[in-house]
Order: sequence, then structure tokens, then C-alpha cells
Amino acid sequence: MRKHNLGYPRIGMDRELKKAIEQYWEEKIREEQLFKSAKELRKQHWILQSELDGIPCNDFSFYDHVLDMSFLLGAIPDRYSPLISLISPIDLYFSMARGYQKNGFDVTAMEMTKWFDTNYHYIVPEFLPNQTFNLHGTKIFEEFNEAKEILGKVPKPVLIGPVSFLLLGKEKLEGFHRIDLLDRLIPVYIEIFKRLKEQGADWFQLDEPFLVMDLSEKEKHAFLKAYEHLTQEDSGIKILLTTYFEGLYENRSLAFKLPVSALHIDLVRCPNQLDGILYSFPKDRLLSLGVIDGRNIWKNKYSVSIEHIKKAANVLGKERLMIAPSCSLIHVPFDLNLETDIHPEIKDRMAFARQKIHEITDLCCIFEGNTLLLKENSKSHKRSVDSTIIHDSGVKKRMASTKEQDFHRNSTFESRRPIQRECLQLPLFPTTTIGSFPQTSEIRKFRANFKKGKLSLQDYEKEIETSIKDVIQKQEQIDLDVLVHGEFERNDMVEYFGEQLKGFLSTKNAWIQSYGSRCVKPPVIYGDVSRTKDMTVRWSSFAQKQTKKPIKGMLTGPITILQWSFVRNDQLRSETARQIAWSIRDELLALEDAGIGIIQIDEPALREGLPLKKNNWNKYLEWAIHVFKIASSGVTDSTQIHTHMCYSEFNEILEYIAKMDADVITIETSRSHMELLEAFSRFKYPNEIGPGVYDVHSTRIPSVEEISSLLDQATRLLPAKNIWVNPDCGLKTRKWPETIQSLKNMVLAAKKARREFINIT
Ligand code: GLN
Ligand code: ZN
Repeated sequence: MRKHNLGYPRIGMDRELKKAIEQYWEEKIREEQLFKSAKELRKQHWILQSELDGIPCNDFSFYDHVLDMSFLLGAIPDRYSPLISLISPIDLYFSMARGYQKNGFDVTAMEMTKWFDTNYHYIVPEFLPNQTFNLHGTKIFEEFNEAKEILGKVPKPVLIGPVSFLLLGKEKLEGFHRIDLLDRLIPVYIEIFKRLKEQGADWFQLDEPFLVMDLSEKEKHAFLKAYEHLTQEDSGIKILLTTYFEGLYENRSLAFKLPVSALHIDLVRCPNQLDGILYSFPKDRLLSLGVIDGRNIWKNKYSVSIEHIKKAANVLGKERLMIAPSCSLIHVPFDLNLETDIHPEIKDRMAFARQKIHEITDLCCIFEGNTLLLKENSKSHKRSVDSTIIHDSGVKKRMASTKEQDFHRNSTFESRRPIQRECLQLPLFPTTTIGSFPQTSEIRKFRANFKKGKLSLQDYEKEIETSIKDVIQKQEQIDLDVLVHGEFERNDMVEYFGEQLKGFLSTKNAWIQSYGSRCVKPPVIYGDVSRTKDMTVRWSSFAQKQTKKPIKGMLTGPITILQWSFVRNDQLRSETARQIAWSIRDELLALEDAGIGIIQIDEPALREGLPLKKNNWNKYLEWAIHVFKIASSGVTDSTQIHTHMCYSEFNEILEYIAKMDADVITIETSRSHMELLEAFSRFKYPNEIGPGVYDVHSTRIPSVEEISSLLDQATRLLPAKNIWVNPDCGLKTRKWPETIQSLKNMVLAAKKARREFINIT
């Protein structure tokens, strides 16, 4: 059996890559130094995998592996052309990721979006109808030689397959489909293969994650054509085609028809695809079993993996098997050994990238008869079954005793609305913000100092109080109607709750790449979740004491907390979400008790939680909405529940958004020019809506006129009495002067709309 890996984390044990790249951007180090650090990291990473047979190269990236492909294939948008002769290749590469504003140039960055259902973001390739491709980058050839030299064996170059590469991109003009560019793309792939073969390569890993998605006939046909061409020229190359994040299902026979040497399948996400695969697996091919979870931090259950391996070996023979993680390990942190504060019982159940590599070897040893490794592993798993750290009988009892009426508000929206109106006394087109206000470097500093123990609790709380007083004053001066406390105590909207809820742990160093040099450190949900103390009440009620205007309490919703954490794998995600929901509900009720009459439950990750395959959407949406309703019900009719989502693409799921029954929903619409509102209008969405009237991701200050025109559009589509006025999202990353000016313009536009509306009616 061959042991191999699909990709290793690039950022380094201590986020060295992030630090080097950012120093380079700040011109504190030179290109040579950046390259030297990167080379050193790659070396370390290869050595850590040296026990494997198939070790990936070209999985390293200075920013993102999809951008690397665009660069390699010469898919460099025209606006960067003037830069090509002017700046170095690495600067050109970074300017594609981040834009270029220097030497009289102002070139915008390429778009970024999420990599399938992960929290990794990639740079979207841009295509034109007359798009050409040519071998442009050299990184893959250099890294191949580098790896070969360090490892003393032939590494396996990793590339995104041609069909997925095209599908990941976007047409920049209408009138063509990007898949039609395939004929022009394939020759470049063949050229790359040829050159690498000359350098000594034998196996090539081509990632085609789109094979697990719903494919059109045209796309299926493209797969057939691409792989026929790729293998036609030179029969000497061996392609390992990888699929992950879902099962192959109806694309199985298509995958079998592709003339490759090996196929990788994800048995963590979709273990039950194995039987079907084995039943008709092509005779000339190797099968790579992705048995180790590349998306989560838990130790492998060897007994289960061995079962799969044995089953496959029985049918195919062990010579035709490869053992691997389910997907690239870039989605898991580097090394569990760095975590010194995790409870030993929990730590004993975890594995990060470094440990997962050993797990591959372990599985092969167990298959060959090492029973000791299997026994030890089973012991860890058995211990967790009755661990009182993981299992909380109180939580389980509560989950079992929930009743239907717990999941609904006491009355319908029509009955709640007049009661809320009476209590809140808000004008038409009420103005508000999404929650966070600028997090200045001082705020970040005193939060960090408090965490490090350099600032006492008392001093820290005083600092937060000062910031809250200040932000309330500013909001009153701007004349907003519904105020917020600013979220200065929160580093991150999920981490903040994770740190306070039982069943969660925070790590010291478990960073994963989110985009470019940005890393995140998701909390770990290891056990039954409950709320043991107030989490937000102190700050919301402090804020409410500073003003006569209503303060909106701020909670993160259960789906978003789930989505942005490492989730336990010993029970259904929906069950874990349900436990989180009850904890959030407890906080909601505590806020209500403390006199907070408006509470927002943020669910920006609701949409990204959607399964990759459409026929699984309903099932997910059913439980996700159910869970949101647990979190948001239980309050009296007079308490107004808001929710917030940042994406503008939920036309298809409006029915479920409506079922959430939030009194007010605030959404991102400014960049899509209120297009989404047409969908809300067609759907006759009954509750109140705050369409974001300006883009918070830009430093631009929107004028009163442009906000007014967006409001005009909104009033044409929706009943005026339903419309709120607010920015697109939180203002955390903005600077104060632009924030104040933008919000002032927003309030002026709302006031203008009120006057005009009253004149008409
Ligand atoms: N309340 C959060 C904030 O304002 C919402 C963030 C988000 O939607 N991602 O920062
Ligand atoms: Zn948002």
C-alpha cells in the first residue's frame, strides 16, 4: 500500500510564512529573504512527511493555490499587463491578490471567494472570450527540484485539474462559457507535464473537487474530453485524480471513465460510497482511500479506517491501494505538540497535520498486523465514551425534554409588530448599525494586554466602559435610532462565545489559513455545550445605562458558531448546534431580563453551511432554521429579534429565511444594487428588512444622494413600513473618520426618505 498526502499546511508551525509575507509587504525584508524563509519552511514540511511514499510538492503557496494556477497558466488579467515588465514576478503575483497602488498605477485586486464549503478563500480566476493560456510561472518546476533534492525521492507535483480550474473561475464578459476554453488550456497542462517528466516526475496529483458537485452535461463532457487529451500525448505519465468534500455518487461512472492511473475518494465525508466504488472499480487503476479527516482535528478511529482498508484490499488487493487524508491538510492546524494547555483527556483524542501524517503510517502497520497500535487507539476512543468532561447529563436531559412550543415565538409577526412599535417608538426608516465599531490599535492592544495578564480585570473593564461611553456618544451625535455597544470586548464573534461556553476550548496555536496571510484560530467544541454565566449582559446593560435610545444586544447565532469552530465528531452536527442554540437562548433571555428590548442574532455563516449538493439543502435548512428558532424564541412579544447575514445570494433559500421569523433581518445589498430586494419583493417577505445601503469593505464614503437612490429603489420594492436603514455589515475594520461621515450621510438619507414619504402619503 502506498502512503501519501494531498497537501500540507503552508503557514509554518509558528505562522512564519504569514510573518515573512507581511514583513515583505511592509518592505521590512527583501525578496531574497522572503524566498529564503519560504524555502526553509518547505524543507521542514517535506521532512515532516518523509515517512510517506507520495509527498506533495507545489502545495506550498505565497497566497493561494488557485492564484498559483492562474499565474502558472498565464491567466493574468489584462489590467496587470503594464506591471509585468515593471515589477518582479512575485510582486505581480501579490498585486493580483491585493491590487497595486503605486508608481501612478491603481489596479484593483482579483475577486476572492470561499473554497467549497471551507473557510479557506481563493482568488477567483478571470476569463475573457478570447482568453489564451501560456506557461507563465516557474514555481512548480523549482519546487519539484527542491523537494527531490531534499527528500532524495521523487515528489508528487500537485495541480488543480483543468476542469475544476475553469469552473472555479468567472467569465468577465457575457456571451461565452468558461468551460469552452478547455481546448486552449489543455496544451499548457501537457507542456507542464512534459517539463516535469524531464525533471524526473512520475506521479501527478490533479485535484478535481468539482467531480463531487452537481454537474451539467456540458461539464461532464468537458471532463471526458480533458482527460482523454491529457493522457493521449504521452502514456508515460501517471495521474492521481483526487475528489474530496463529498461522495462521487452520480458522477461515479464519469470518474471511472477518465483514463487516469489512480482515483482518490473522501471516505470521511462519505464513507458509504466505498461499496459502490469497489463494486465496479476499473481494473487498471489504483484507489486512494481518504480515511483520515483533513477537515477536523480529531484522532483517527483506526478500527473504522482499517475496516475500510480491509474491505478494499479484499476486492482490489493491497497493491492497488493508497492511504491518505481525505483532502489537503491545509484545513487543519500544524502540530498538536504545541498545545500545552489542553486537558490531557481531550488532547489524547486530537490530531493535527503532523500527527495525521503518522496516522497514515500507523494504519499501514496495523494492516500488516501491528495490533498494539490498534489497541492503544481504541483505548483513547473508549475513554471518551463515558468521559464526564465530554458528556454532561444535565445538557442531555434538557435536550430530551424540549417541547414544540419552545421553537416558536408566542405570537405571529403581525401580532408582535404593533406591540414592538408601541414599546420602541421608532420613526419610519429606522437607522441602526450591524454591531461592531472601529477596532482601533489601542483597543486591540488593551485586549491583548488583558489576555496576557499585563492589564488587571478592573483596568480592562474600565477601558471597555470608556470605549462604550464614547461610541454611544458618537452614535447619539450621528442621530442613529437603534444603538449598539460596539463589540470592543470581542476579538472575534465566534471565539468570544467559545471562550465562555462550557464544552468549548481555545487553543494556543491551532491556526489555519483563511486567506492570503490571514489565519484564524477556530475554537474546538469537544463536549456537551452549556452556558454557565452571562456572556454579553454586562456590556449591553452598561451601554443601555448611557442612553435613552434603545440598545441592540448582540449575539452570534448557533449555526455561525458551529460553522466557524472545529466540531466534535461523535454526534451529529445538528445535535451540537441544538446545544449551542439553547445556550444562546439562555443569553437572550438574560439580556431581555436586563432590559434590552432589541437583540440581534448574527448568522452570517448560515448560507455557507449549505451542503455542496443541492439535494441535501432541504435537510440542512430544516435543522438550521429549527436551531435558529430555538435560539431566538422564548422572549416576550415586545422584544424585537434581529438577525444579520452578509451574503447577497440567498434568492433560492428565501422560503427558509422567512421561516426564521426574525422581526428584522439586515442583509448585504449595496454591492448587488438591491437586486436581492427584488427577490424579497417577489416572495412578499412579510417581516422587516434592513438592506445594507453602503459597502463596509471599502474606505469610500457614500454620498447622501447615492444612499437616497438605494432607498428609493427599496421603497419601490418593499412596503416603506418594513424598511430599516443600515450599512452592509459590521464596521470593525473601518477607521473612525470615514465611519462617522458615512453614517451621518446614511442618517441624512433616512431623514430625507421620511420627509418625502410623509409628503406622498
Ligand atoms: N455583529 C457583527 C459585527 O458587526 C457581525 C459580523 C458579520 O456579519 N460577519 O461585526
Ligand atoms: Zn455581516
